[in-house]
Amino acid sequence: MTKTRKLFYEDVYLGMFEARVLECREEKEGYAVLLDQTAFYPEGGGQPADSGFLEEVPVTDVQEKEGEILHYTKEPFEAGSLVHGRIDWKERFDRMQQHSGEHIVSGLVHEKYGYDNVGFHMGSDVITIDFSGVVTEDQLREIETEANRYIWEDQTVEITFPGPDELVEIPYRSKKELTGEVRIVTFPGADICACCGLHVTRTGEIGMVKILSVVHFREGVRVEMIAGERVLRYLQMVSAQNHRISAALSARQEETADAVDRLQEENYRLRGQLHKMESDLFAAEAARHEGEGSVLLFKEEMEADSVRKLCDAVMKTCHGCCAVFSRNPDGSYKYAMGEENGDLRSFTKEMNTALNGRGGGKPFFVQGSVKASEEEIRRFFER
Ligand SMILES: [Zn+2]
Repeated sequence: MTKTRKLFYEDVYLGMFEARVLECREEKEGYAVLLDQTAFYPEGGGQPADSGFLEEVPVTDVQEKEGEILHYTKEPFEAGSLVHGRIDWKERFDRMQQHSGEHIVSGLVHEKYGYDNVGFHMGSDVITIDFSGVVTEDQLREIETEANRYIWEDQTVEITFPGPDELVEIPYRSKKELTGEVRIVTFPGADICACCGLHVTRTGEIGMVKILSVVHFREGVRVEMIAGERVLRYLQMVSAQNHRISAALSARQEETADAVDRLQEENYRLRGQLHKMESDLFAAEAARHEGEGSVLLFKEEMEADSVRKLCDAVMKTCHGCCAVFSRNPDGSYKYAMGEENGDLRSFTKEMNTALNGRGGGKPFFVQGSVKASEEEIRRFFER
C-alpha cells in the first residue's frame, strides 16, 4: 500500500507543492492520481475535499480510501513524473475559518449546557450544527458574544496526539469511539475535540462568527452559523437591504422594522376601506340593474375576487343572467357569470369553445377567462 505524505497536516497554509506521481489509475470517468505527497485535503470529518489543479488539470475530488489519497482528474499523468499542485487557497482558508469557528461555538455550548454536537455540515453558504439539547436564541446570543471575544484573544490552536493513557485523562469531545492514533485539537479554554479536519493556527484568523438561526431539530436544535469573510459578506448584504428599506420608508436605519410594521398596518386598514367602498359601489351598480333581466358588463383590470363580488351583487337584482368581463393588461378577459337558480353549464362550455376560454364552477355561478376581444364577446352574447 502506498503512503502519501500529508503535507496539509504539516503546514495547513501550504497552497502549492511539488510531488511525484506514484500511480495513475483509469476510472469510469477520468483518472485517480496517487502522489508521494499532497497538500490536497481529502473529504473527511465534515470538511469537504479541497479543489485546485495538478499542473493545469482541475482536481474534481479528493478521497482517502484504504490509506490512499486519490486525486480525481479528467486527464492522466505519467507515473514517475513530477507535478506541480496548487489548491484553491481562498476556498480552503474559508473552510478553515468555518470549521474553527464551529469548534469554538460547539465547545462553548458543550461546556455551558453539556450538549453534544451530533451533526455537522459545512455548506457553501452556511454551516449547520445539530446539538443534542435545546439552546434558546437568547442563550445562543450569549454564546456568540463569548465566541467572538475568545476569537479576539487570538489564542493558539494546539494539535496533539496523546497516547492511550494520556487520552483517558483528557475531557475531549468526540462523535465516535476512536481507535488508533487520535488527533486532539485544542482551542485553549474553549474546546478540546478529536478531529481530523484543518483549522487555523491562531483564533484571530477566524475574524468573527455569526449565528444566523436556530430551529428545533429532533431532540435538540439545528443552528446555522457563518465565520470569517462570510460574516463580512453577510453584513454587506444585510446593510445594503436595510439601506434600501430605510430610504424607501424614510426611516432611521435602526427603526426600519417598526416602519415596516406601520406600513403593514396602514395597508391592512386601506384594504378594509377599499373593500367597504367596493361593496358600496357594487350595491349601487346592482340597484341600477334592478329587474333589467340579463346583464352584460365590461370592466377594466379588476381582481378576480372583485369580478366575482360584482357579478354576485348584480345577479341578485337583475332577475336574469349576469355576466361580468374584466379586461386584463394583456388584453384577455376574466369573467364571472351567475344566474339565481339557473344552470349555466352548457352555455359556459359553448362560450369557452367559441371565445378561447377556460373555467367553470357551480351550475348557477361560473368563473374563468377568455382570450377574445370585447366585440367578439358581445357578438357571442347577442346571437
Ligand atoms: Zn475540527
